[in-house]
Amino acid sequence: MGKFVISVMEGDGIGPEIVKEGLKALEEVAKRFKHTFEYKYVYVGGCSIDRFGVPLTQETIDTILSTDALFFGSVGGPKWENLPHHLKPEAGLLGIRKALGAFANLRPAKVFRELINTSTLKKEVIEGIDLLVVRELTGGIYFGEPRGFSEDKKKAFNTMVYTNEEVRRIAKLAFDIARQRRKKLTSVDKANVLEVSQFWRNIVIEVSKDYPDVELNHMYVDNAAMQLVRNPKQFDVIVTGNIFGDILSDEASMLTGSIGMLASASVGGKVGLFEPIHGSAPDIAGLGVANPIAQIESLAMLLKYGLKLHKEAKCVEDAVALVLKMGYRTQDIATNSDKKVNTTQMGDLIAKAV
Ligand code: ATP
Ligand code: MG
Repeated sequence: MGKFVISVMEGDGIGPEIVKEGLKALEEVAKRFKHTFEYKYVYVGGCSIDRFGVPLTQETIDTILSTDALFFGSVGGPKWENLPHHLKPEAGLLGIRKALGAFANLRPAKVFRELINTSTLKKEVIEGIDLLVVRELTGGIYFGEPRGFSEDKKKAFNTMVYTNEEVRRIAKLAFDIARQRRKKLTSVDKANVLEVSQFWRNIVIEVSKDYPDVELNHMYVDNAAMQLVRNPKQFDVIVTGNIFGDILSDEASMLTGSIGMLASASVGGKVGLFEPIHGSAPDIAGLGVANPIAQIESLAMLLKYGLKLHKEAKCVEDAVALVLKMGYRTQDIATNSDKKVNTTQMGDLIAKAV
């Protein structure tokens, strides 16, 4: 019986179509669990450019920071492609990510039994995959100093840096999440070659002392990349640094089939951001055929990691699974024998299942 305020950012392309379907499910959650959700509609990206002339305003940031979570659609599209870099929709997305101060990106990869035929991988390999990559977002080689080119332009360099505090907080967050799942954490590094990875590994081991109930193992990143395609079922939660996480989270998500099914969260800052991994899909915008499930799975993450409403999150996840089990599919995941539905119909079915 809580009261929550949610920032809603529908965005560009298919964003508005699928965010609406997410909110339908949320309204059913409200009824079923007797919560009240208040919505603050905000604009980032192309929709902000059209309204305010810039991809992100300070007012938008302030509004979002006053709420409990940010439910985010998608930004970008051909309409804004030719603008200068700092005025493009994507600059708005980067800006809001920065303003929220998230240091962790969560990327679940889950295979729905019902959709195994849509993957390019063998059934034996992917059946039962349910893993989550926790990527450190604010440190590592993407931000380390010194960086740049030598004066004579004959050399270029970047530096992988992690502080004790940065490793500690991401490790804690990953252990906390593992504790709520199957209690298995794999820390991925390159400790056989990199000092920064040895440092990472030592701190993760230190933090693990507070989590005796979670099983910890370490894996070199090259092996992890291989294991993800060889035997992905061995993983529950993977925690890793910025660059390794960038690569492994994309790899992991492609195990599961459709891009229209996958959610992500940026957390650890003042307000969590919850969004699908896919973009604004301008090629199908306005046609009413987009798959709303990635957005609805983002809603489940918002409930779980943003508002700590675990039962409610599970209820949404179960609703998605049930509708898939009943054989309903949007066109991106449909095969011949399925019951084909459009965006709204899929959203209605899931809301009803909630
Ligand atoms: P970005 O640069 O924002 O990542 P992109 O063009 O690289 O955008 P997407 O917008 O994710 O990538 O689209 C990639 C392809 O996947 C497109 O053909 C799009 O139609 C399809 N797609 C993406 N999301 C969905 C969805 N929810 N339902 C169905 N198809 C989708
Ligand atoms: Mg892309």
